[in-house]
Amino acid sequence: MAVCEIDSDLCVVGGGIAGICAALAAARGGLSVVLVQNRSLLGGNASSEIRQHIGGAGFQGHFPEAREAGIVGDLWSMLRRKCYRSNPNDYAESSVLFWDVCRRERNLRLFLNTQVLEVEKEGREIISICGLQGSTGKRFRFRAKQFADCSGDAVLAYLGGAKFLAGQEAREEFGESLAPPERSDFTMGNTILFQAEKLDCEVPAPDFEWIEDLRGREIWWTLHPPSAPMESGCWTFEYGGKLDTILDAEEIYEELLKIVYSAWADLKRRPECGMENYRISFLSAVPGKRESRRVIGDYILTQNDIVQTRRFEDDVLYAGWSLDLHNPDGFYGKTRPTTFYFFPEIHSVPLRCLYARDLDNLWLAGRDISVTHVALGGVRLMASCGLAGEAVGTAAVYFSKEGTCRGTSRNHIKSIQQDLLRNGGFIPGVRNQDPDDLARIAEVRATSEATLCTGEHSEWSPINDGVGIAFPVTAGKLETLTIWVKNESGSPSVLTARLQPLRTIRDFHPTEVLSEAQAVASAGVSTVEFALGANDLAEDIYMVHLFSERPDIHVSQTRSRVTGVHSADHFPHGPTNDPHGWGQELGMPNPPRWVRRFNPRRVTNPMDFHLTPRFAVHPASHCYRASNVKNGVNRPTRLPNLWASDPVDGLPQEISLHWGEPVLVEEVRLIFDADMDLAMPSREPVEVMAADYVIDVETEAGVRRLASVQANDRRMTVHSFAPVKTQALRISITRMNAGGSNARLCEIRCYGPQSRN
Ligand SMILES: Cc1cc2nc3c(=O)[nH]c(=O)nc-3n(C[C@H](O)[C@H](O)[C@H](O)COP(=O)(O)OP(=O)(O)OC[C@H]3O[C@@H](n4cnc5c(N)ncnc54)[C@H](O)[C@@H]3O)c2cc1C
Repeated sequence: MAVCEIDSDLCVVGGGIAGICAALAAARGGLSVVLVQNRSLLGGNASSEIRQHIGGAGFQGHFPEAREAGIVGDLWSMLRRKCYRSNPNDYAESSVLFWDVCRRERNLRLFLNTQVLEVEKEGREIISICGLQGSTGKRFRFRAKQFADCSGDAVLAYLGGAKFLAGQEAREEFGESLAPPERSDFTMGNTILFQAEKLDCEVPAPDFEWIEDLRGREIWWTLHPPSAPMESGCWTFEYGGKLDTILDAEEIYEELLKIVYSAWADLKRRPECGMENYRISFLSAVPGKRESRRVIGDYILTQNDIVQTRRFEDDVLYAGWSLDLHNPDGFYGKTRPTTFYFFPEIHSVPLRCLYARDLDNLWLAGRDISVTHVALGGVRLMASCGLAGEAVGTAAVYFSKEGTCRGTSRNHIKSIQQDLLRNGGFIPGVRNQDPDDLARIAEVRATSEATLCTGEHSEWSPINDGVGIAFPVTAGKLETLTIWVKNESGSPSVLTARLQPLRTIRDFHPTEVLSEAQAVASAGVSTVEFALGANDLAEDIYMVHLFSERPDIHVSQTRSRVTGVHSADHFPHGPTNDPHGWGQELGMPNPPRWVRRFNPRRVTNPMDFHLTPRFAVHPASHCYRASNVKNGVNRPTRLPNLWASDPVDGLPQEISLHWGEPVLVEEVRLIFDADMDLAMPSREPVEVMAADYVIDVETEAGVRRLASVQANDRRMTVHSFAPVKTQALRISITRMNAGGSNARLCEIRCYGPQSRN
C-alpha cells in the first residue's frame, strides 16, 4: 500500500491530555496541526478506556486558588458537567467529548489508531515520522516543521536519538533528599483501573485457575483492604515498577490482570467489605502508565526547584499536588502504595523543560518532560500535563521565526507567556502586559463596589488550638476586627487575636507579629471586638491568629465563598494536612504549623470546603474595586483581583471602561469568577459566576449592543464583532448563577483590529 504523505506545521504525537491541549492551542494559534494517536480513543489516562480522572495543583484543596484554567480547565469543566454522574472517575464518555472538541477545530486533523513507528531525521531536526493505522492498514508519513512528543513514553525523542532519563536518579546527582542513595532503574508501576457495580443479587467470586489466593500473603493490600465499594475505580493495584514499563508492558499487563482478580476474589471473601453483590463492571483495556522516559531539555527540574519555589524567567506553567512518589513494589510492597510529600507553594516549570536538548524541533509535553524522577511526582498530574501541552502549542506558533525550539524559547518567551494569560491562563508572578489590550489604558467605573464582608452564619466551629483568618487589608491600617462567638465554657473567656503578615495564600507560616489584642467572650453567643490598632500596613494579605484560653469556644462560620479570604487551623504539635494519613511535609518550618481548613466532603458538597470564620474589619477593606479587572491578574493571589458589587445593592450591576480618545474595538474577553479554589470544577455553575449579561458600547450613533448572553457557564468568554469606534464599553450583569447576589468579574480585555498582527 502506498504511503500517504501528510504535511502540517506541527505534528503532535499522543492524544492524551497533553497532546490534545498542545494540538488545540497550536491550531487556535493558526498553525495547521496533525494529532496522531495510536488508540481509537482520545484522552490517554483520562480516556474512556483507562478512566483516570484529571487532577491538578489543587490537590483536594491543599493549595488554595490553584485550579488550572485555559484549555485543560475547559476540558475538565466539560467532563465534570457532561460525564460525571456518581463519582469523579465516571469517564465512560470522556473520549467522545475529547473527539468532539478536536474534530470541531478548524486547523486540526486527527489520525486515530495510528501508531508512530519511525522517525526520519536530518542532522538535529526531525523531518518526518511514519505511522501505521491499525484499523485501515494505511501507512502515513507525517512531514512537519516541528513536532510535539506527547506520547508519554517519549517515542519521538527515543526514536530520534535524544538523551533521556529513566528510573530513579541517585540522591547526589541533583542533591534531592527524596532520591535513593544509589541510582536504580525502578519507576512507578502501571495500573489496570477497574470499577465495580452493585447488583440486586449475589455475584460469586471469580474462580479462574490463575487467580492467586492472597490469604496468608503479607502485602499491603491484605493489611488495609478498602472497606468501601469500588464504583469510582481503584488505582492502588500497581505493578511493574521494577520491570521496564515499556519493554515489559505485556508481562506487566498479565500480572495486573492476575492482581485485580486475585484481590477482587479476596475482597468478596471478606464479609466486612460487603462486596457479595458486586461485580466488576469495567476493566481498562490498557494499563495506565505513570512513568517511563523523561527527555532531557535545556533545564531539568528537580525536587529543590519545587520545594524552594524557584521561579524562572521562562516559566510557562505551574504545578502543585504534592511529590506523589509511588512505591516501585506496588501491590506486592509491604507499605502503602504511595507517599505524598507536600511543599509550601505551587511551583513553576520553565519552557526549557518542554523541548529536547538534542533535537532542534521537538517539543515535549506530558509525563515525558525534562524533570527528575522525584520532580515527576507532581507535574505528571493531568491538569499540569494539559498546561504543558497548551504552553507547547502556544510556543509552536512562534517557532517559524526562529526554526528551533531553543531559539523560540529564548526570543519569544514574553509573547508566549502573554498569549497564555490572554487565553485565561495563570503563571505565578507574570501579569498581563499585553500592549494590544485596550482595557489597560481605560478608566474603569462600576455602579457598586463591595467591601470585604463574610456571608451568613452557617455553623459554629471550635477554635481548638487556634484558627487563622487570612484576608486583604487595603486601608493602610486595621483598627478593629470583630468576630461572632459562642462560649459554652460556662464563664467569660479571654480570646487573643494576633495580626501577622502572610508569606503567600498557600504558605500559612507567619512568624512576625504586627499587633496583638485581647477581648472577653461572655458566656453564650456574643460579638467580640479586638482593638488591633495596626498602622502602616501595605495593601496586602494578612492573617489574624485567634486563640482562646479555654476550650468550648466556637466561632461563627459561613459556607459562602468569600473570595480572597482563607482560613487555617493551628496544629501546635505538627502537620496533619493529609486526609489519608499518607503525607509528609518538605521545606516547611517546624511545628507549630498552620494548615489550611480542609474538608474531605468537598467532592459531594464543594461549598463545605469554603467554611470560613465570619468577621468584620474596620476600616473597611476595599478589596473588590472595579479597577481590579485590569490589574493584570485574573484570579485571587495575595489580593482577590476581581471586581464585586455590593450584595446590598442587588442586581443588575454595571462595570464600564472609558477612554479619553475613541478606540476601535472588535473583541472583548471576559473572565468570570469560576471559584478557582475548588480543587476540581463544580458540576453546576457556581453562585459567584455571572449567568446573564450584556455588553454595550457607546458610539456616535448611540448605544449599540455587542452581545447578550444568557445562562453562561464558562469562566472565560470571547466576544468578536465588526470593529466599532467607541469611548465607553459597558458590561451589565443581570443575573448570577445559583442565586448569587452580587456581580463579579475578574478581568476585561479589549482588542482592536491593530492587535491581529
Ligand atoms: C493508575 C493511574 C492513576 C493516576 N491517577 C491520576 C489522577 O487521579 N489524576 C491525574 O491527573 N493523573 C493521574 N495519573 C497520572 C496521569 O494520568 C499521567 O501522568 C498523565 O496521563 C500523563 O499524560 P500524557 O498525556 O503525558 O500521557 P498519556 O495520558 O499516557 O497519553 C499519551 C498518549 O500517547 C499515545 N501514544 C503512546 N505511544 C504512541 C505512539 N507510538 N504513537 C501514537 N500514539 C502514542 C498513548 O496511547 C496515549 O493515549 C495517574 C496515572 C495512572 C497510571
